[in-house]
Amino acid sequence: MDIFSQYRDLVDSLIVAAKKMYDFRYEMSDGGNLSIRIPEKNWMIVKGTNIAFDEVDVTTLVVTDFNGNVVEGCVKPSKESLLHGVLYAALPQVHAIMHCHSPYATAWAADHDTLEFSTHHARYKLGFCPVLDTHSYVVPQESFPEIINLFHAHENMRAFILRGHGQVTVGKSMRDAAYLTELVEETAQISTLSHVIKGVREKPLMGQVM
Ligand SMILES: [Zn+2]
Repeated sequence: MDIFSQYRDLVDSLIVAAKKMYDFRYEMSDGGNLSIRIPEKNWMIVKGTNIAFDEVDVTTLVVTDFNGNVVEGCVKPSKESLLHGVLYAALPQVHAIMHCHSPYATAWAADHDTLEFSTHHARYKLGFCPVLDTHSYVVPQESFPEIINLFHAHENMRAFILRGHGQVTVGKSMRDAAYLTELVEETAQISTLSHVIKGVREKPLMGQVM
């Protein structure tokens, strides 16, 4: 039996999460990537490169080892597969990874060093969400130690945002990682709107300027 058939439930969870992100417009065009760990092996199922989230299915996914070497599948793995492999190798609690260029999270990262927790729920669920500046459209290997060190230093860290790029979440399952993605985006949206409203309140109304 091929690996995709053997782990059909994992494949299905990737398809569901990818379609949801595309429908939400958290990832437009053919960017972003997602993956899931294959239990008890140093392998993952990852999206092919230049495949849109609404095109994710068994033919556009690929099984690789944690170094991005193809084990099974007909497409080239995502450019970020090395980052995914490093995260799985270093963090045994991580079983799925989602990366997308969601608008509010990415906009927030333009001028902040961490995600502001605009709700108590976000603080409880996300713990700490730093913004990293890798100056690249693909996370370079020299940034990997910094990212792993942040996860080790902050036990409750579940996400980070790349300035000028997008957000990354790690979860116990694909469902978990996808919900964290939604939470990061929702939190960035509320934080942005909160700042707009505070800014409006602090400005004098027209005609009241003395
Ligand atoms: Zn990206």
